[in-house]
Amino acid sequence: MDNDIKKVKIAVNGGIGFGAKLSFKQLNVILKYLNENDELELTTFQQIYLEIPEEAKDSIIEEFKKVGLECYLVGNFVKSLRTCNFCKGEEEEGMPVAKELNKLIAGRTVPFTLRVAYTGCPVGCGEPMINDIGIMKVSDHYNLYVGGKAKGKDAEVGSLLLEKLTPEELYDAVDKIITAYSKMGKKREPFNKFLRRVGRDQISESII
Ligand code: SF4
Repeated sequence: MDNDIKKVKIAVNGGIGFGAKLSFKQLNVILKYLNENDELELTTFQQIYLEIPEEAKDSIIEEFKKVGLECYLVGNFVKSLRTCNFCKGEEEEGMPVAKELNKLIAGRTVPFTLRVAYTGCPVGCGEPMINDIGIMKVSDHYNLYVGGKAKGKDAEVGSLLLEKLTPEELYDAVDKIITAYSKMGKKREPFNKFLRRVGRDQISESII
């Protein structure tokens, strides 16, 4: 590819499944858009950052989607849902709920990049406690945590906001938290800081 071509960064992954995997076919399609000296960036959030020519962005994303790759915007958006590997089974660990939640929230515009993590059982491999919003499936229900922060000297564990939610209640609560953050968050204010500023009570009120 010509180095003078204007490029745009996108985040790509293989969608929500049993582990963060990419198939031979998917890797081959990605390779089509890399030069010998290009690099791929692997993020901690189960995404690959890739630069593609801006003018061909739509058709390339279409081609990626045909082989099952999911493409997301990079920047001040809700990131695609980080998940555990669903080692105990698709239904038992709520993979359909994770997929639906991802569809509802990934790519929404927010004041600062928002990380939402899902885990299929209390072992917590999806690390819900150290992300902005965390979901943990416990038996047949879902617990919702907020305010986790993995980075920095002020890293902290999130706290339980709601428990024993049904899938519908979970979708609604996460949607309302993101809406509140979008409306009341200051430009480039991380979610953790926003939560401290407005208080958990106000967030709880916005859900009711
Ligand atoms: S959180 Fe539970 S279901 Fe998910 S990978 Fe870990 S042990 Fe398996």
